[in-house]
This record gives sequence, C-alpha cells and structure tokens, in this order.
Amino acid sequence: MTNMTNVSLDNTTHLSRADPDDLVPSRYALRVGDIDVLVISDGVLPLPAATLAANADPAALKAWLDERLLPPDVFTWPLNVVVVRSGGRTVLVDTGIGEEYPEFRAGLLALRLGAAGIDPASVTDVVLTHMHFDHIGGLFADGLRGGLRPDVPIHLAAAEAEFWASPDFSRASMPPPVQEKIQSVAGRFLDEYRSQLQLFEVEYEVAPGVVVHRTGGHTPGHSVVRLASGSDRLTFLGDAVFPDHFDRPDWHNAFDHDPEEAVRVRVRLLQELAATREPLMATHLSFPSVGRVAVAGDVFRWVPAYWEY
Ligand SMILES: [Zn+2]
Repeated sequence: MTNMTNVSLDNTTHLSRADPDDLVPSRYALRVGDIDVLVISDGVLPLPAATLAANADPAALKAWLDERLLPPDVFTWPLNVVVVRSGGRTVLVDTGIGEEYPEFRAGLLALRLGAAGIDPASVTDVVLTHMHFDHIGGLFADGLRGGLRPDVPIHLAAAEAEFWASPDFSRASMPPPVQEKIQSVAGRFLDEYRSQLQLFEVEYEVAPGVVVHRTGGHTPGHSVVRLASGSDRLTFLGDAVFPDHFDRPDWHNAFDHDPEEAVRVRVRLLQELAATREPLMATHLSFPSVGRVAVAGDVFRWVPAYWEY
C-alpha cells in the first residue's frame, strides 16, 4: 500500500499532532542571568541538500554530507523557535512555519507551547528575525493566531518590511515554487499584520537585556537577538548560520538574498562569538541548537553545549 518511509513519516506526524506528550524532546530551557530562555522545536523541514550550498561544487557538498553519514540528496533542516522571559515580558522570537504544509514535518509550535505550559495570550511581544515563511507562517496557523493577543506588537527591522513590499530574488537560488510561496506569505503578512508592526532601524530593546539587532545579509532586514544579564550572554543567530557554515562559511544558502553579504555577516558573528566564547542558538541548527563556536584553522568548529538537566 505504501512504503516504509511513508509509514514512519505518517506515524511521526500523527503522534506529534495528536499528543502533547511528544515522543522526542521538543523544548529545552536555560537561563541567561535573570532571563529565562526556552528553545522550542517547530519540527523539521526536509529540503534538497543543495539548498545548503548553492555555490558549492556538488562533489564538495556530497563529500561534506557523506563525511557526516548523511544522505546525498535531502537535508532535513531543524526549525527552532525561542521564547524569552525578562522583566515581566514574554517574547516569542519567530513563529515556525504554520500548519499549511503537510509535506514538512513542522508547524508544531502552538501544540508545543501548550505542552510547555505557555499560553499564547501571555506573549507580550513577537520578534521576527526576518520574513521567510518558516519564521512567520505560525502567525497564520489557527493554534497560534487564535491564542495571541490581537494587538500583540510585532518587532521587525524596517528594512525587512520595506524589502518585502517589492522583494528581489535575483541573487537567491531557491526553487521557483518555494519562491512563489515565500513571496505570497510575506505579502499576506504585510497585509494582515501591518497595524501591529513596531519597526526599528538598527536595534531595539524588547525587554530588559533582550535586544534585537539588524544584521542584514540573509535578507536585508535579517536580525539576531542578543541576550545579556549580569555576566551571561546568549545570541540567537536566526538564519545567519546553517549547519554547514562552521566548516564552509563561504557556502551560500539558497535562501540568502544577498549571499556575499550573508557570508560577511556570518563570518563576523562567528569570529566574535569564537573570541568571546559566548554561547549561541540558531534557527536551523540541530535542536536545541545551543552551543559555542571555536576557531579551527581558517574556518570554525561547532561545539554543542552539554545538556544541563
Ligand atoms: Zn529559516
């Protein structure tokens, strides 16, 4: 009737959606001084492996994947969302992909917020790292949209809102159907959420010690979130770094709208975090994506955090 791969995928999706007690861990809590941080997995996105490295020699990408015992054609992108609590505010950073894409094993944010005991109505602020559909799609999912306060402020770089009013895909390498989807979801977001947008130019302190800072690169308004409390620090890098970028920071992600600038932003951030030894998280690093980066020759090395529990 159907093959084993489909059977296991169907079961995973079914169980995840039906039961808040997931079979896999989907949230990871940590503290940064007085700031509470919760990483939540929205699920995973199986995509063509070539999306990791649009400018790579295919043999080099194949070798990179093979060295990690990964299949050559599909790379399953993790999709992480972060909830930050500081000074009485509850900040949701990105919203996952939403529920309109059964081909992705994702869109689980609302369910997993519930399982973590977080009522969307308690969210005081939403921060968007950028407007790609895997970051804003949750805002169109009933589970989240129905629970968020209808006037919750949404913080976004002004350059991002401006870019998506008339987006430029000429330097990105994404498959055309995905490009169409990304464009239509971004347009819908601007139509439906414009009155809630709180735009910033360079950076904005959303809550005590929680600063969203525009980097550009991946998209013109792409932003990271810097957490600082006492001597503790943690940076959420959004889409500035993907799993291959520690070894190959020069590889262009297919979704980078300005790939050369994305490389500069990535290298600058990784060099800084390697020098300070401060921890980081990122949207598409393997859950919970918490770790550090070290310098390794003229590239970098990912050092996952030891789980504290
Ligand atoms: Zn993304």
